[in-house]
Amino acid sequence: MKRVDIFEFFRRLAEANPSPETELEFGNVYQLLVAVVLSAQSTDVGVNKATRALFREVKTPAQMVALGEDGLKAHIKTIGLFNTKAKNVIALSEILVRDFGGEVPANRDALTALPGVGRKTANVVLNCAFGAETFAVDTHIFRVGNRTGLARGKTPLAVEKQLEKKVPQPFRVGAHHWLILHGRYICKARSPECWRCPVVDLCGFKAKVPEPAARRERGAARPVRATQAQH
Ligand code: SF4
Repeated sequence: MKRVDIFEFFRRLAEANPSPETELEFGNVYQLLVAVVLSAQSTDVGVNKATRALFREVKTPAQMVALGEDGLKAHIKTIGLFNTKAKNVIALSEILVRDFGGEVPANRDALTALPGVGRKTANVVLNCAFGAETFAVDTHIFRVGNRTGLARGKTPLAVEKQLEKKVPQPFRVGAHHWLILHGRYICKARSPECWRCPVVDLCGFKAKVPEPAARRERGAARPVRATQAQH
């Protein structure tokens, strides 16, 4: 995608949603970190349901340590992989208390050294809590980047590097939110809704999906299926 088109791509997504935010619910940076750790391979909606009561009780790493692993499990047992996630959240909370005075560090190396915190999680926290120009490549961004031609790469890290290089100001802080929302609600995995896509003329995806009535008239049984790999 050409530079001028990339600018226009984000300008339109930004116009539709000027102040994008994560759909995870949290009250402070520590709760954001916990919510992002819990959200791995789970939906934001599912995480929010579990954390509403938890976050009323637990606002700091010290309070999480006091709650303990079994207490935490009781709150998050509806979330996938909750046993491992509970272990990680307790362990990272202990480290935050011991080494960081109960604060969440604002740098990637320190974050990724915490149990259960990978590069994507660290990028979300740095972006949402500290306003860093990071690009947390999840399944939606990986797909949208590859499908549109905005940022192609075989791995999430390759796509992240492309985004770092290509996304212009003033869109760098909001870019990851706009791409996630675009992927979640319009440029969906199995059936992208190209007929109502605000960037349809800029997108390099060849097999654009027409609007459903037109497809029915032509007797198409199924929408075009995306071909790009998921991670
Ligand atoms: S035109 Fe279709 S494939 Fe391209 S970004 Fe929009 S929804 Fe995705």
